[in-house]
Amino acid sequence: MTTDTLIKVSGLQKHFKGGQIKALDGINAEVRHGEVVVVIGPSGSGKSTFLRCLNLLEHPTGGTIEFEGVDITDPKTDINKHRQKMGMVFQLFNLFPHMTVMKNLTIAPMNLLHKSKAEAEEKAMALLKRVGLEDRANAYPSQLSGGQKQRIAIVRALCMDPDVMLFDEPTSALDPEMVGEVLEVMKQLAHEGMTMVVVTHEMGFAREVGSRVIFMDYGKIIEENTPEELFSHPRSERLQSFLAKVL
Ligand code: ADP
Ligand code: MG
Repeated sequence: MTTDTLIKVSGLQKHFKGGQIKALDGINAEVRHGEVVVVIGPSGSGKSTFLRCLNLLEHPTGGTIEFEGVDITDPKTDINKHRQKMGMVFQLFNLFPHMTVMKNLTIAPMNLLHKSKAEAEEKAMALLKRVGLEDRANAYPSQLSGGQKQRIAIVRALCMDPDVMLFDEPTSALDPEMVGEVLEVMKQLAHEGMTMVVVTHEMGFAREVGSRVIFMDYGKIIEENTPEELFSHPRSERLQSFLAKVL
């Protein structure tokens, strides 16, 4: 493990139904500081399970995950402390519907990081400005478009000052005309040096901002390479046929 390694996954397994379903079947991967690791693969290949294991929304059935040098799969580790350092953005926006945007953004920093209301609101406002939504602070989620909701969901994760951002198909549930504005925010984040793990079908995004692309199938990493190499010279038949369908 080099000093710039943020996450190191070794022999990660996640089995369901007593081992009948091997959602993850021996994953070895590293995420270094400032990298954008893009995860691609067919539906059911284990991409979401992989992300959910990284912050222990799913508990692995085997293997280890070191985050910032600490084995977070060790039962003695205080996972809540580490989980706060991993921002997660899901396919559906998961904003609290009965709270304003500002409340959505400040509740966790106040409750979990014990920030004062003023401090939490100041940070939230600064981040809202960065994504061009400062005028929506007092709106409720139902008053926002899908693209706006997803940008707010990203801001909400950023309000916790994460060391890594995990994205699970953040644009898949959006109307096509709103995909761009969300990808734009993600690109901006990447350019600012945020470490990111992104599950996506947006191959343009993978090519443009990915440091590395991981191709998964049947719970395994089949290929891993720079975007240029992976898209131009897929080695396995499985990746070739996957790319033929999505490109
Ligand atoms: P992807 O995100 O690549 O579409 P998933 O990680 O969601 O794939 O799923 C990987 C495999 O694990 C699939 O076969 C899926 O049906 C199975 N799986 C995921 N979550 C569960 C669960 N909670 N119980 C049983 N099987 C699951
Ligand atoms: Mg998924």
